[in-house]
Amino acid sequence: MRSSSALPMNRPRAVRVVKVVDEAKDTRTLIFEDELLSKAEPGQFAMVWVPGVKEMPMSISYMRGRLAGVTVKRVGKGSSALYDRGVGSLIGVRGPYGKGFRPVRKKALLVGGGVGLAPLLPLAERLMEFGRPTLVAGAKSREGIPFFDRARRLLGDKVVFVTEDGSFGEKGLASDVAGRLMDGFEVVYTCGPEAMMRKLYELAKEKGLEIQASLERFMRCGFGICGSCAIGPFLVCKDGPVFDKGMLEAVEGEFGSYSRDRCGRRIPI
Ligand SMILES: Cc1cc2nc3c(=O)[nH]c(=O)nc-3n(C[C@H](O)[C@H](O)[C@H](O)COP(=O)(O)OP(=O)(O)OC[C@H]3O[C@@H](n4cnc5c(N)ncnc54)[C@H](O)[C@@H]3O)c2cc1C
Repeated sequence: MRSSSALPMNRPRAVRVVKVVDEAKDTRTLIFEDELLSKAEPGQFAMVWVPGVKEMPMSISYMRGRLAGVTVKRVGKGSSALYDRGVGSLIGVRGPYGKGFRPVRKKALLVGGGVGLAPLLPLAERLMEFGRPTLVAGAKSREGIPFFDRARRLLGDKVVFVTEDGSFGEKGLASDVAGRLMDGFEVVYTCGPEAMMRKLYELAKEKGLEIQASLERFMRCGFGICGSCAIGPFLVCKDGPVFDKGMLEAVEGEFGSYSRDRCGRRIPI
């Protein structure tokens, strides 16, 4: 058996940023060349290292030819350092890691909140072969909606924008708007704030719909060694990050209630 460090995806690669796209307030996509990440499945993630600062998991938001991209929202030290990497700068990448979304030939509703839309855009592109899916794209306000043009170009009037302050699209919460639309669909794919995903899970259960949700937990190794991202019987990095309905049922006590910090202490969600 090969040791885990011998697997190609576990080898750290230095890549140069070739393009930066401003997506929304404090949110940008960094595009670079990487053979392995460019072939990732929607919903898989990369471990992205900013030299001297931090390594972080990031959903792969862009795969085209030999190019791949991650979309970062500036929130703390690591994400701010990554956000500031301009064209020409070097970053380190490992991956792709985890189990992504399983595209199924069913009437699909995608629901994303803020930077949680990152893995849903490649998924929407993949789902086009089964017919155009509907996307509910939510944010606090208009300036917080990433991938605006990309979503519109791909999905046309099948994108429903929702803002909490009503500055664009429908006013309210993405989960409420999605809940009203759900009856016309067979499967829900979601990524974003966990409270939103928990609500969608409850609604999907009530209405008998399939659901796949991409979860976020503190991660260190990214491939199932360290155990930092444990939730119930699962490791988010290896068994997820995308959880299906059965997996979500198994972690009902934690999902939407609490996560854990780097020391394993519970943090309420
Ligand atoms: C599978 C997976 C995929 C991910 N994909 C992405 C992605 O595509 N894009 C992306 O930007 N991030 C993504 N993340 C989150 C990312 O890995 C970092 O946790 C995040 O960028 C914060 O790192 P930091 O060092 O800047 O902040 P930290 O120093 O870890 O935290 C600083 C402060 O920000 C808060 N914080 C942390 N994360 C968030 C958040 N998401 N929203 C609001 N406040 C927060 C913390 O509670 C803390 O108070 C993903 C995480 C996982 C597990």
